[in-house]
Amino acid sequence: MRRPAISLRIIFVLIFVGVLLLGTSAWGQPSGQTSARKPSSRTSLPDVYLITIDTLRADHVGCYGYKQVETPALDALAADGVRFTQAFTHSPITNTSHITILTGLLPSVHGVTDFGVPLSPQHVTAAELLKKRGYQTAAFIGAVILDSNTLAPGLARGFDFYDNFPAKTETKQRWGRVERRGMEVVAHAESWFEKHRTGPHFVWVHLYDPHDPYEPPSPFSEKYKDRLYDGEIAYADSAVVHWIAFLKKAGVYDNAIIVVTGDHGEGLGEHGEETHGLFLYDSTLHVPLILKTPAAAHHGAVIDAQVRTTDILPTILSATGVAAPPQLNGESLLPLIEQTKTAQGPNRALFGETDYPLRWGWASLRALRVDNTKWIEAPRPELYDLQADPKELKNLYAPDSAGSKAQSMQTEMTKWKAKLPQQANSAKPGEPLPDPKDKIEVQNLLHNAMLASDDNRSGDARQFLEKALQLDPRSPTALRQLGELELAAGDFAKAAVHLKRAFELRPDDSTAAFELGEALEKSGDWPGARDALESSLKLAPSQMSARLLLGHVYLQLKDAKNAADQFEAALLVDSNNGEGRLGLAEAQIQQSDFAGALSDLEAFTKSDPRNAAALRLLARAYRGLGREQDAKHAEERAGVLEKK
Ligand SMILES: [Zn+2]
Repeated sequence: MRRPAISLRIIFVLIFVGVLLLGTSAWGQPSGQTSARKPSSRTSLPDVYLITIDTLRADHVGCYGYKQVETPALDALAADGVRFTQAFTHSPITNTSHITILTGLLPSVHGVTDFGVPLSPQHVTAAELLKKRGYQTAAFIGAVILDSNTLAPGLARGFDFYDNFPAKTETKQRWGRVERRGMEVVAHAESWFEKHRTGPHFVWVHLYDPHDPYEPPSPFSEKYKDRLYDGEIAYADSAVVHWIAFLKKAGVYDNAIIVVTGDHGEGLGEHGEETHGLFLYDSTLHVPLILKTPAAAHHGAVIDAQVRTTDILPTILSATGVAAPPQLNGESLLPLIEQTKTAQGPNRALFGETDYPLRWGWASLRALRVDNTKWIEAPRPELYDLQADPKELKNLYAPDSAGSKAQSMQTEMTKWKAKLPQQANSAKPGEPLPDPKDKIEVQNLLHNAMLASDDNRSGDARQFLEKALQLDPRSPTALRQLGELELAAGDFAKAAVHLKRAFELRPDDSTAAFELGEALEKSGDWPGARDALESSLKLAPSQMSARLLLGHVYLQLKDAKNAADQFEAALLVDSNNGEGRLGLAEAQIQQSDFAGALSDLEAFTKSDPRNAAALRLLARAYRGLGREQDAKHAEERAGVLEKK
């Protein structure tokens, strides 16, 4: 393999030099630069290091003018690179925003607008493009939200190595199960790098620390005890310090392109929003963006033009001589950078989106931010003059303002939306969804309940949910979560009440119906359980556990024919499923088909001789066939096992 690798490398170098000569790249030397700033080797592709710091507000970073936090790593990168003062994300949601960064596409174009939605193979990522260019690619994530096996399917495409979380873990702690500390993420990246020294490299490091709950480790927990969010930022920065020092020691820093950004900011109580996701105010859309170019060729530059996270991918591509896929939503930042002396390049319109409110049954939002004006499309629209009112406190929208700014922004918004794919999950006509502005308190409570559940604090979770229901008795999310809590606590009657209501309010929620079936089955309400499980399977026919449970419910109802149908359907999906096989045997015995049951039960007890339930069924089959001795023998074996 060595030989082709070397020749490929040479080809890439030739292409890169060619690209430079043709002038279509990249980091041509900016005019007026001295030769001391030249990349040490113009003939090698630069490494590309992408660092995303989760939940990072631009105005909480040292080099962005915030005095109450120490961020030496980001400050040093800004000193060595270009700092964009007005960079904005298109989405306040972690996986949506990261996919936008890695694809250069707007959320409604790539379509990953909620957790667990797979990234379609038609959308090419930075990793795929750079891998094709000959890069070694690896990703190190700090939260299970970006795990490509569960909540972010498709995101690992193009990465030689993608540092997912272990599929099973014993720990009930958050650490290692849903979140990794920044230092651990960086340690994983460094250890991968040690084993893959030959470049060029594209490495993405994701630091989740500033995301709530805010629990920085010592000494940050003490130093920032009154401002724990800042403490998390300072801690994440210390992980960046480590990573950059490592890259310098490895000798790859100088020639590298390093991009640091945030996936979104944090509400911190502005507009009533404690965290992020629901709104499109600058508190969650304004992020830092720092770009260090090879040999720090543009060190210390500051660009005030408005730019977007969709611009990151086109920038990386033009800097590495990779052709950009057609129809990207962003544009390379290189033209802005090359003209740093006339820094006020044209502002780029920011189209913001959030479908997160749909999760709770509220209206999704769209925003347009252009030339210091923000338009938010919502059931009650909003218009802000960001120059006069940067905190977006004074909504200038008036419904009868014909010929006004609002109208022109609305027209712009319509043009933007016309270019985007039709929204599959937009509200159905005749069903106006509530404005998220009216629901923020409920959302904060639901969010706190989710965190409490994650931390196994079910008492706290229950309190938050009950409070949310006082504010919004028709919240299907609160009802379902409360039902799940009661189900786990063993209060099946209470669970059934909440889950029934949740399913009535959201009749397409197959999980609520399944859980209602579980609660009713456990309360001994067989007909009720049957109806709920049938409804759930009608909505989502491939649910194995619902299928098996429904089989058992039919057995309780002495409806052996329907029970057999359910178990057979389950066995079609997984022919070796033990519960399905035993269920089917029991249904056959109920129907007096003892011979039918016997053949599989004999095979089953041979391969699993320590299964007492199977032996009990085997005994019943023998007895049905008049084989009393065999029945007694099977019962004795079952009895011995049951005593153990
Ligand atoms: Zn995030």
